[in-house]
Amino acid sequence: MEQPPFAEEIIQWYQKHHRDLPWRHTLDPYQIWLSEVILQQTRVAQGLPYYQKFVEAFPTVYDLAHASEQEVLRLWQGLGYYSRARNLHACAKSIVADHRGEFPKTYHELLKLKGVGAYTAAAIASFAFNETVPVVDGNVYRVLSRVFGVDDDILSTTGQKNFRKLADQLVPAGQANVYNQAIMEFGALQCTPANPACLLCPLSAMCYAYQHGKQKTLPVKIKKGKVKDRYLHYLVVRLGDKVLMKQRPEKGIWAGLYDFYLIETKQPRKWDELNDPVLNEIIQQQPQVEKSELLQHQLSHQRLHVTFYSIVLNGNLVKEPHYSAGKFYSREEIEELPKPILIDNFLRNNHL
Ligand code: SF4
Repeated sequence: MEQPPFAEEIIQWYQKHHRDLPWRHTLDPYQIWLSEVILQQTRVAQGLPYYQKFVEAFPTVYDLAHASEQEVLRLWQGLGYYSRARNLHACAKSIVADHRGEFPKTYHELLKLKGVGAYTAAAIASFAFNETVPVVDGNVYRVLSRVFGVDDDILSTTGQKNFRKLADQLVPAGQANVYNQAIMEFGALQCTPANPACLLCPLSAMCYAYQHGKQKTLPVKIKKGKVKDRYLHYLVVRLGDKVLMKQRPEKGIWAGLYDFYLIETKQPRKWDELNDPVLNEIIQQQPQVEKSELLQHQLSHQRLHVTFYSIVLNGNLVKEPHYSAGKFYSREEIEELPKPILIDNFLRNNHL
């Protein structure tokens, strides 16, 4: 079958311009899967050291499956979206338990794995097994929408279906591996969101957006829902060189990671407006309290307004209290705990 000019141009561009990245040198589905999960919602420069750390710590799917959740989360620390790490771990376990340590070889079988969606299944199926199936990520939406003038909302179900159909028609049989890498790389380096390099682009003659000056309006992305404000008051309770920390619940932000004792309010609140049983108990011991600056921390749909209250308990007067909401950890123990980056930064900046 004759290759469509679009695919041909994209592959030729890729052969000249692609970055040399470690996961492009392997056909091992495990390493490809690791790289794809790590790189979701993460830039290559940020994800690369994590990929290297994971491959080094867990060279095979067996090593990852046999690791503790704490080890996996600790290594993941700083990448955010921690459910990805938990799914990664669960998926490794199921590959070992249910597939004798071997990744399924087809897109449809891969899709059945826990935490493996259409994007990751297509990436593994095409990069490791060269199955003719398109990957469709943010870069691909942008390139297709601009080149073919598709103005469907990429966040809508119909839009995604239409893009998927177009992507299906474009992927060249027998070359899915290189084509998929190529179109994603093209979106990442050439047809970038804010400043596409149109003047040097081999597709400009066939590109709808370039021909019609629509680079800024394509792709269409209609954001729904507004950002929610949350007010977090952390009590950083110290006793000697230990700090009170606790594991977060299984649901919600930073699920399963460790942070300090938290009081959350619906509105901004000052220190003397906080009312909480653990705080009331601590205050009775008349500790020294030091308040941090108010920090803002942005998550995808939430804006966190965070204040840390450093509280030093008097070790002479107090035996280690048994707060139901946490446990005192030494500096070495804290180092091993998986923590949100906001908490890790606070610990480092305050030499805790
Ligand atoms: S001409 Fe511009 S908008 Fe069109 S594909 Fe090339 S870089 Fe993207």
